[in-house]
Amino acid sequence: MPILNLVKKLLKPGGRDQTSEKIAAQPRIYGRPEHTISRAQISPNALKVLYRLKKGGYRACLVGGCVRDLLLGREPKDFDVATDARPDEVKALFRNCRLIGRRFRLAHVRFGREVIEVATFRAGLPRGKGDDWAQEEETGRLLRDNVYGTIEEDAWRRDFTVNALYYDIQDFSVVDYVGGMEDLNHGVLRLIGDPKVRFREDPVRMLRAIRFMIKLGFKLDSSIEVHLKPFAPLLKDIPPARLYDEVLKMFMGGYAVQTFELLRHYELFGPLFPATEQALDQEEHGFPLVFLAHALENTDKRLAEGKIVTPYFLYAALLWEPVRLAARQKEAQGTPPVVAMQEAAGEVLSEQVKHVAIPRRISLPMREVWNLQPRFEQRRGARPYRLLAHPRFRAAYDFLVLRGQSGEAESELVDWWTRFQSAPDSERKKMLEGPRRKTRRRRPRRKAAAKQAFPQE
Ligand code: ATP
Ligand code: MG
Repeated sequence: MPILNLVKKLLKPGGRDQTSEKIAAQPRIYGRPEHTISRAQISPNALKVLYRLKKGGYRACLVGGCVRDLLLGREPKDFDVATDARPDEVKALFRNCRLIGRRFRLAHVRFGREVIEVATFRAGLPRGKGDDWAQEEETGRLLRDNVYGTIEEDAWRRDFTVNALYYDIQDFSVVDYVGGMEDLNHGVLRLIGDPKVRFREDPVRMLRAIRFMIKLGFKLDSSIEVHLKPFAPLLKDIPPARLYDEVLKMFMGGYAVQTFELLRHYELFGPLFPATEQALDQEEHGFPLVFLAHALENTDKRLAEGKIVTPYFLYAALLWEPVRLAARQKEAQGTPPVVAMQEAAGEVLSEQVKHVAIPRRISLPMREVWNLQPRFEQRRGARPYRLLAHPRFRAAYDFLVLRGQSGEAESELVDWWTRFQSAPDSERKKMLEGPRRKTRRRRPRRKAAAKQAFPQE
């Protein structure tokens, strides 16, 4: 440990707490020949930032997801830099730099569309009692973690060992305080420290565990696995806005089907989408699961083909079952279908946003997709033309197709709309003149279909 850091540590108030015990360990340093990261794989802009910091006399490393991904031979999503320079010192080095964040200041160095995030080494929670900045709630949840620290402390506060590796521009080595390199080579996702403490500090780490396990194709270390179910209810205390981002990252990463299965398996889905979980638990007929399977499969397929997926469609699918059930109940009490759907949508959404926030730019098109569903049943006069001209027709129709695939909507209805939208005008007229169709609620189909879609269920 550099002398200066040692001195700082000794001068630190609170003495040797649990955190500093761990920090006493020496890092394992993997020299340039012992790892596979080459500068050719690193964004030139990230390299510029690293070199400039180094020239300024600071320690500068790549850290987190980018180091992990480079070592795995994957292309990193972005490059994050960690340094011992303070944010204002970083700012002084770069003209194209903006400081962001109130609670914890980060520097964003912008190069056209690429942003390199530069964070000052941060300490985790000193587990001292009675100090005056109350970082922990009674539950142990982390409320503040905005203290600058050493690189060692910065490593220990991170979530998984494979996310705590540093690529040091000083000598192109990989610096490992937590055994991340070994875990990476064995394909193991392991929390740094005691999972009970780390999950309590930040329950979102449970969702991150699922996300990384799937994304990297890693095994969960058994010490993580046994704690997921017991700690799952803690997700209820996470601010809904944070969970909105997390849910999108999980479901829009290209493995939505697997994510859904594992979240349910570890009882992490219920705290996020209680109404959906309840509806799935009660369901007797299988199509809600088939519907979700198709919707999520579709999302994965579109992403694999490089197409865009819209969050509102995904959320509309995730919440469809409770909305559908509530609307059906209202209809049974005599509310007209279109009104029943609007009311059901409002009720389900206002409950849902207590758990996972849904911004209006997402909930408005979600409601449109739902509200248009009963209108597909109206196939006489000018109504089908009006529906066809609706700006959200395409998404609503895709949604109808999914409902058809799960056996929840009549396939005759889906076929009719498939033909109607591409038929020439003369043909459309004939379709509208056909015998008056009475739309009949279909009896649900086979549970077996659900088994096929999610064999684990
Ligand atoms: P991705 O490729 O999905 O971005 P990532 O590892 O870069 O993966 P980020 O969410 O971008 O994930 O976080 C960057 C780094 O910050 C992580 O690698 C980890 O070291 C640390 N980190 C992020 N979230 C947490 C958390 N909740 N608790 C502790 N450390 C965290
Ligand atoms: Mg990242």
